[in-house]
Amino acid sequence: MSLVVQKYGGSSVADAESIKQVAQRIVATRRAGHEVVVVVSAMGDTTDELIELAEKVAPLPPGRELDMLLTAGERISMALVAMAIANLGHEARSFTGSQAGVITDSAHGRARIIDVTPGRIRGALDAGAIAIVAGFQGVSQSTKDITTLGRGGSDTTAVALAAALGAQVCEIYTDVDGVFTADPRIVPTARRIPRISYEEMLEMAASGAKVLHLRCVEYARRYGMPIHVRSSFSQAEGTWVTENQPGTTETEGGQDMEQAIISGVAHDRSEAKVTVVGVPDKVGEAARIFTAVSGAEINIDMIVQNVSAAATGRTDISFTLPKSDGQAALKALERIQPEVGFESLRYDDRIGKVSLVGAGMRSNPGVSAKFFAALADAGVNIEMISTSEIRISVVVDQDDVDTAVASVHRAFELDDPDGAAVVYAGTGR
Ligand code: ASP
Ligand code: MG
Repeated sequence: MSLVVQKYGGSSVADAESIKQVAQRIVATRRAGHEVVVVVSAMGDTTDELIELAEKVAPLPPGRELDMLLTAGERISMALVAMAIANLGHEARSFTGSQAGVITDSAHGRARIIDVTPGRIRGALDAGAIAIVAGFQGVSQSTKDITTLGRGGSDTTAVALAAALGAQVCEIYTDVDGVFTADPRIVPTARRIPRISYEEMLEMAASGAKVLHLRCVEYARRYGMPIHVRSSFSQAEGTWVTENQPGTTETEGGQDMEQAIISGVAHDRSEAKVTVVGVPDKVGEAARIFTAVSGAEINIDMIVQNVSAAATGRTDISFTLPKSDGQAALKALERIQPEVGFESLRYDDRIGKVSLVGAGMRSNPGVSAKFFAALADAGVNIEMISTSEIRISVVVDQDDVDTAVASVHRAFELDDPDGAAVVYAGTGR
C-alpha cells in the first residue's frame, strides 16, 4: 500500500461545506487503496484574525503565548476534518504537531524542524485509520513549549511528515490549479506550469510566490520528495515540483526536451528598504552595519552600495528586509551610528519586488535586456537590481508592481491565449 500525504490550505477548509468536501476527497483516496496522512491549515483567515486579536490585547504579545494561540487555529480544523471523515464511515484520528512528533528548535514564530518522530501517526495508519495532523506547529526539543514554523508553515509540516514516513508523494491542495507563471490574481491569463524543478521553485518561493512555503521546497529538495500542487476545488492535474536536469524536462515518452527558458514572474510586497546615508568610505563599515542588523536576527535580501562621491568620501548603502523587521533594524543601526559615523537613515516601506525566474536564463543571452525593456515600456522606474544564476529581481514603487508583472509576463510570451486561470477561493491574504 502506498502512502500519500495531503495538505489542505486555509481556503480549502474555510467552512463546514468545504470541510465536508475535503473529507470526501480524503476518503476517496483511502478507498483507492492508499494510506493517507492529512495536514491541515487553520480555517480561512483564522490565523490573521487570531493575530489581530492578540495585538488588541497586547501590542507585542510574548512569542510563547502567541504560538500557543495560533496553533489553536489548526487544532480546530484537524478535529473538524476528522469528524467529517468519521461521518462518512471511516476512522480518522487527529493529532497536534507535538503528538505527531514534529520536533523543533525553540524560536517562537519561526521555529525550524529538527526531527520528526511520527510513531503515533504510524500507529494510527497501522490500525487502518486516516491520520489528520495540525500543520505549522511543533514542540521545542529543549523547552518543551509549543512552537510555530512561520506563516504558511503547514506546507513544511506536510513535506517533513512525507519524508519521515517515506510517502510516495506530498500533495499540496490550494485554491488555484497549481503553480502559475504569475499570480493569477494579478495576471488572469497566467499559465499553469505542469512541471518545475526544486531549484526554480525555490527561487519563485523566495521571490514572493506564496503558493508554496520556501522551507517546504528546501525540505522537499533535500529529501527528493515530489510535491504535487493542485486545487482542492477541481480534479485537474496541477504542478509537479521534482528534481530535473537543469533546462530539460521529461516528456510523456520519457524523453528529454528543451524546457521553457522562463518559469515565471513572481512578486513580493512584504519587504521594505533601509538606506544608510553618508557612510564613510572606509574598510569595515559595511561589515559593521550588517553585523548590527544580523545581530538583531534579521534576514536581509538585496543590498546596493552606491559609488562614493569623490568630494565627500561618503557612500549610501541600501538593503531590503521584511517589513516586519523594519523597526528592529532601524533601532540596531541607530545604536551604531556614533561608531560608524553615517549621516542618517531612510526607511521606505512602499516598495515591491518583481522577479523573473527560469533555469534557461543560464544559457540564453538577452533575457535581462528583454526584462528591462519590458519595464521601460511599462514606464516603471527601477530602484534596485539583484540577480542569481536563474533569477533577475528589481525593486520598484509598490504601485508599479502589478503593471511591471503584467508587462514582463507579456514580453516573455507567458500568457495563455485561451486561458483564464481560475481562483476558486481565498482572499490571497
Ligand atoms: N495557518 C497558518 C498561516 O496562515 C499556517 C498555514 O496556513 O500554512 O500562516
Ligand atoms: Mg493560512
